[in-house]
Amino acid sequence: MKRLLILGAGTAGTMAANRLHKALPDDWQITVVDNDPIHVYQPGLLFIPFGTYTRRDVTKQRKKYLAKGINSILGAIDLVEPDQNQVRLVDGTVLKYDQLVIATGTSVQPGETKHLTDDASASLVHQFYTLDGAEALAKTLSDWPGGKLLVHITEMPIKCPVAPLEFSFLADSFFRDKGIRDKVDITYVTPLTGAFTKPVASKYLGEMLSDRQINVETDFYVEHIDSRGAGSGRLVSFDERELEFDLLVTVPINMGAEYIERSGLGDELRHVPVNKHSMLSNAYNNIFAIGDASNLPTSKAGSVAHFAVELLEQNFLQHIQGQPMTHEFDGHANCFIESGGGKASLIDFNYNTEPLPGTYPFPKIGPFHLLGESRLNHQGKLGFRWAYWNLLLPGRNFFISPTMSMSGKTPASELDLEQDSAPQSPDTESEIPVPTF
Ligand SMILES: Cc1cc2nc3c(=O)[nH]c(=O)nc-3n(C[C@H](O)[C@H](O)[C@H](O)COP(=O)(O)OP(=O)(O)OC[C@H]3O[C@@H](n4cnc5c(N)ncnc54)[C@H](O)[C@@H]3O)c2cc1C
Repeated sequence: MKRLLILGAGTAGTMAANRLHKALPDDWQITVVDNDPIHVYQPGLLFIPFGTYTRRDVTKQRKKYLAKGINSILGAIDLVEPDQNQVRLVDGTVLKYDQLVIATGTSVQPGETKHLTDDASASLVHQFYTLDGAEALAKTLSDWPGGKLLVHITEMPIKCPVAPLEFSFLADSFFRDKGIRDKVDITYVTPLTGAFTKPVASKYLGEMLSDRQINVETDFYVEHIDSRGAGSGRLVSFDERELEFDLLVTVPINMGAEYIERSGLGDELRHVPVNKHSMLSNAYNNIFAIGDASNLPTSKAGSVAHFAVELLEQNFLQHIQGQPMTHEFDGHANCFIESGGGKASLIDFNYNTEPLPGTYPFPKIGPFHLLGESRLNHQGKLGFRWAYWNLLLPGRNFFISPTMSMSGKTPASELDLEQDSAPQSPDTESEIPVPTF
């Protein structure tokens, strides 16, 4: 029997296990290890602070989502010993493998920033990238009287780089609905030079922030956080800028699992360097890294994990037969951007093509709008939760190509970035059929 060991049963690990279970010959046994019996639908964490979702809406038993015949082990990974083709768990178990897939993701590390500890629930400093953090923030927001709110990114890359923007848009909408928007001063604080990484999307998203009277502080690299004063605090940058806050919602630095560093497999953020087209480790010919755990130069997103795993499946079958891997991943990512008031925008891009305006997935009819707000995009965002549990995790084929298409997109060369080029949603939106998921 040949052994495929998958470390991590989150988005990428679960999809990979289920797809490869169907595709591999019978003489392969798949084993998956994870240290948490609960699977969290992380895109849903965005909605918890505003009371739209609760814990029940975003969690399921992890084991239920692994196909029959896949071995699952509940345990913490301690060390990979690549020269011996084995993995040690914290409880002493040793697991041998022929092929290894690393899918242990990336997570927030508040301890890496001076004076930012992970007991945020008790203070004015919050984060929504974990379930406990999102719940604590919901409690604070439910009776927060207003004041200076900073929404802050510590350092890139973070998973779902648009999530802090979405949080800002939803906060604007939330305080409007509560009738206290005039009492809240919102500032979006980023280490980037603009609202997003690429020029077209950065301009478009920057305009969405200014339309909502959300201030933007760019090029801000936090040196320390001072939240010891009574009822307020300060965010201090390396270039000695100081921003006062009454409530700080920060995204702490994101890093891969600690065992990656102990095993000598990671870069300085504990992400595993891989070939960006095949996801094969640069260092070992029988180790792949997928999803957020890898250093793929694209967004850390569930959509990337999904597209990459579809291609990994094909490549893996070739690789174990000693053939060259011919199914190149192009960094395809897409993400709905919740913008408040029951609307959302959408971006779709890859390593070479930045997010562009247009329609998705079909030219002209869409039904979704790229870099354009619509109610359908919002329905797509909400409907994606169903698709995640019922189509993506079980490894069913989806109607979206794993590689990016230019179909429906307006090329950057046809856009005038100096002019007001933010595309408007078509008036015919209500005539477009709602997708079935
Ligand atoms: C607030 C928020 C909003 C988001 N919104 C979107 C969105 O709208 N669209 C989108 O595409 N993506 C979104 N994402 C990102 C998306 O959720 C992740 O990119 C995706 O889950 C990555 O999958 P993964 O399998 O690589 O990692 P994960 O799903 O995080 O899985 C990693 C697994 O490894 C396990 N693990 C880690 N270390 C160990 C260890 N030492 N031992 C054993 N097990 C271990 C963990 O328990 C976990 O189950 C969002 C994320 C957040 C936080």
